[in-house]
Amino acid sequence: MYDTPFLDLPPLASAAGTVRLPGSKSISNRVLLLAALSEGTTEVHDLLASDDTRVMLDALRQIGCGVEADGAGGAVRITGLGGRAPAPEADIFLGNSGTSTRTLTAALAVLATLHGGRYEVRGVPRMHERPIGDLVDALRQLGCRVEYLNTDGYPPLALSPGTLQLYTPIRIRGDVSSQFLTGLLQALPLAAAAQDAVIEVEGPLISQPYIDITLRLLARFGIDVQREGWERFTIPAGSRYRSPGSIHVEADASSASYFIGLGAITADPAGIRIEGVGADSIQGDIRFTEAAARMGAQIASGPNWLHVQRGAWPLKAIDLDCNHIPDAAMTLAVLALYADGPSTLRNIASWRVKETDRIAAMAAEARRLGAAVEEGADWLRVYPLEAPGWRAAAVHTYDDHRVAMCFSLAAFNPARVPVRILDPKCVAKTFPDYFETLFALARAPVDDIPVLCIDGPTASGKGTVAAQVARRLGYHFLDSGAMYRLAALAAVRAGHTIAPEHEAAIAALARSLPVRFDHGRILLGGEDVSDAIRTEEAGMNASRVSTLPAVRAALVALQLSFRRLPGLVADGRDMGTVIFPGAKLKVFLTASAACRADRRHKQLISKGISANIDALRADLEARDARDSNRAVAPLRPAPDALLLDSSELTVEHAVSQVLQWWRGRQPFSS
Ligand code: C5P
Repeated sequence: MYDTPFLDLPPLASAAGTVRLPGSKSISNRVLLLAALSEGTTEVHDLLASDDTRVMLDALRQIGCGVEADGAGGAVRITGLGGRAPAPEADIFLGNSGTSTRTLTAALAVLATLHGGRYEVRGVPRMHERPIGDLVDALRQLGCRVEYLNTDGYPPLALSPGTLQLYTPIRIRGDVSSQFLTGLLQALPLAAAAQDAVIEVEGPLISQPYIDITLRLLARFGIDVQREGWERFTIPAGSRYRSPGSIHVEADASSASYFIGLGAITADPAGIRIEGVGADSIQGDIRFTEAAARMGAQIASGPNWLHVQRGAWPLKAIDLDCNHIPDAAMTLAVLALYADGPSTLRNIASWRVKETDRIAAMAAEARRLGAAVEEGADWLRVYPLEAPGWRAAAVHTYDDHRVAMCFSLAAFNPARVPVRILDPKCVAKTFPDYFETLFALARAPVDDIPVLCIDGPTASGKGTVAAQVARRLGYHFLDSGAMYRLAALAAVRAGHTIAPEHEAAIAALARSLPVRFDHGRILLGGEDVSDAIRTEEAGMNASRVSTLPAVRAALVALQLSFRRLPGLVADGRDMGTVIFPGAKLKVFLTASAACRADRRHKQLISKGISANIDALRADLEARDARDSNRAVAPLRPAPDALLLDSSELTVEHAVSQVLQWWRGRQPFSS
């Protein structure tokens, strides 16, 4: 997951490959609650691991369900209440999860009435702006006691015991959020032991496919709801939740929309294969495939897979009622930028009460990219954007995962401008590794992948600064000194003296170093050598090995291979001069010899290694002299490097200065 303030997507050229998607959010959270209300233990396979499921799991633990995360094959085992009383009190925080908030509120309101108990349900500030009044009214008709703790009509809520009545049907509005009906459908089986429970929907029912998922999953947990059209639902007397024992969660069809979109726009004929969800999906958003096909995508599908290729290009504009695919339809708004005329998305009023006002958000962000957009109370029209109109913009994401994910597709723009996604970690709501997954499929010409070089003498602090800059930008990090240290270690272990006589043999070793980088550790032939290459002696050997031209040449390919999406920060001696001469920003970090000797001294002492400051200074001056005077790639600033003397700077100051220079070289307008 990218936990950075922003993530810059370089212009992307194409994409191809196979993606296995994370589990469906809608199915995951329904299954968790149904398992929690059932008798017995349910092993849930392929559960989505995300913010929304985490808050649900935490809540279930709080009310006394068994939650074990170490089942076979990564399954989660939920032991349900099965008629037992839940914990008598709980203060439950559900973040920005609409499904969790609506469905748990309904279930806890009924449980409080059946068993006694008092619960509070709250979320992030945006959750407290998302309506729940219609559900509360329905629960009050049922005899539950529900109070608003702040503003009428919105969470937070307090739930306490009331007196159940099932004599008259419970009426619920269907045109604000289908989650209200899902909440009632999942809660009422708890109350329907002796008597039928009947729900009547007032007005049109939006997002029907989500109700279909609810009904199918209820059936898996032993509840057969009788349905008359989409207006009247009866939960028969004697209904009782029973665990199916084990259940698999389908991959998320809404998340599939970004990769279906990717397949529709990629010029690579191999296309995109999506695994985990297919034509027979129970999720309504699978019908996004029809919309994408109308825009020109060529889609093949099987029981558990989809394959998508570009068909028409530019895409064909559409005019579509999107009520049946409310979430996935957001992706159409971005595909519309690549269409042959204006596209209109209709019947999307529910967008206004989601994680953010999605009609306003999609319009504002598409405009920021340069597009013309019109919007109404329940519709959106997006005009295509020709190459000269595109602007490099910072896309605001409003803590809405889907805004972030769908605008990533704007990186395929014909103007080849980068796209900045602000607060990229908001994707953790449903798809924490979204950007990593995108980068694994996407291709960009290597010159479009940004590189920032930080060169400088030993102990100038460049390693620390470069690693932090890389973290703040979400970029890969190349510590090129480690390559020379590794080559020297491998040479010494193979019995070579580091001298010109052994140059060819050491170069041969360097060319095929069995090296792997794993979560900050460096493995050589499977052995963790992270500490072994950090000794003073290893540094001296590295400095010697680095004067051998054939060894330097042998390490070039390995260093270049670090230039991958979304970008690279490289530190060393010749990053800006030899390895990445076209880098966007080159920094030459220095510090006085006295200061560097002092830093190295402190570093060694803190590791419990005794050291003499004068000897250290003599050593590093010797390394400087060798690095600066060698014939190949001598240590010196690139002509276009910016000099930064860190003698008087803290690491934080140096990092901010580099980031400020970096920002100054970016084209983003807002
Ligand atoms: O930066 P570090 O101290 O880990 O580098 C070890 C040695 O490797 C340096 O003293 C230098 O001689 C050599 N080196 C190099 N070119 C690089 C990085 C390191 O010659 N790009």
